[in-house]
Amino acid sequence: MDISLSARISHLQPSPTVALNTKAKELAEQGHKVINFSVGEPDFPTPEPIVEAAIEALRQGKTKYGAAGGGLPLRKAIAAKLEKENQLSYQPSQIVVGVGAKEILFHLALALINEGDEVLIPAPYWVSYTEHVLAAGGKPVVIPYPQDHKGPRLTPEMIKPYVTAKTKAIVLTSPNNPVGYVMEREEIKELGAYLADKPWWIISDEIYEYMAYDGEAVSIGTLCPAVRDRFILVNGFSKGYAMTGWRVGYMAGPARVAELVRTLQTQSSTCLPAFVEEGALKALSLGPDLMKDKMQVLKGRRDLAVRLLQDIPDVDMIPPKGAFYVFIDIRKNLEKASAYKNHNSLAFSAALLEKHHVAMVPGEAFGAPGFLRLSYAVHEDVLTEGLRRLRVALQELR
Ligand code: PMP
Ligand code: GLU
Repeated sequence: MDISLSARISHLQPSPTVALNTKAKELAEQGHKVINFSVGEPDFPTPEPIVEAAIEALRQGKTKYGAAGGGLPLRKAIAAKLEKENQLSYQPSQIVVGVGAKEILFHLALALINEGDEVLIPAPYWVSYTEHVLAAGGKPVVIPYPQDHKGPRLTPEMIKPYVTAKTKAIVLTSPNNPVGYVMEREEIKELGAYLADKPWWIISDEIYEYMAYDGEAVSIGTLCPAVRDRFILVNGFSKGYAMTGWRVGYMAGPARVAELVRTLQTQSSTCLPAFVEEGALKALSLGPDLMKDKMQVLKGRRDLAVRLLQDIPDVDMIPPKGAFYVFIDIRKNLEKASAYKNHNSLAFSAALLEKHHVAMVPGEAFGAPGFLRLSYAVHEDVLTEGLRRLRVALQELR
């Protein structure tokens, strides 16, 4: 029988990063030597003390439901982290822990958006923001990626043409996925002054906080007290503590927002597994110093990736300052091949995987055709071999 599906959900795109990662893994299982630069996941194992804490918790019988929105000890520890590292004061009631920052962001969209509300999303953006907004019945309004892409990431002048009476929120991501851009203090202050009187939620995704290689990443919440009443911080353990598979993320913000996000969790995933919370607590008790040497490794890989890319003819990029991505501009190369008209990096990415077994997410996924995203959180040898293959693939376009 032809029973209809939800029109709203039927229009959503499956996550391109997750889809490409799955495809790359399938090809590898078939015996191909695949180089996977697709998914944003550190290749380091989760630090041993964190693993041990969760194993111990399992042995002690922490195999039951946890508390919805995160147990009090974990929310207190997150509040202490935000106070110490970000100079931001929160009560535990203003904090919600969810199944990854992705669940938090999805629930935030559901909690904040009414039908037709508009959310400003500066491109290139992380792949899931637009779909979360659409799933909630809102309208993602993409602020295009400036073509010269050399200046500051986001200025009030870039935002203004996209503001309407329906604007409800803006999403900021620094350090940025996919460009690796880290917002400068002056830029944040200018943005904060502009946002000070705007009736919009400011969603600040700070999940790559610890991955800033040439200075510190600063939160707009820290620098601009005038936006604090509308500021919602999102962070997680996936990147900073190499805990992608544990699925722990959190938000901190106004209590009424936290309450709604917690309500949604009680009606969806319920809670985090109790033993997972023990791992997250351990991570916070050891702090970011635990990962300092790994951040140095990533910085070295960033430098290697930039060096290798600068050697490929007609490839352009902004050398990234944070996260673990390079957003590679291959428009000049694509212009040489009729198969990739209109900077069709989607088709090129498919051919790169099919023929050269290199997986890189195409710019279309981030709202910027003509680019490829490289995730360099892989071993140096893999990086070198993968970029050799990319060079060959681009040469073939001549
Ligand atoms: N925000 C950004 C910018 C990301 O790149 C990711 C990808 N992991 C997430 C949020 C979600 O992270 P997680 O669900 O693993 O906490
Ligand atoms: N955030 C990572 C990425 O952009 C992990 C996959 C995902 O959740 O999108 O690749």
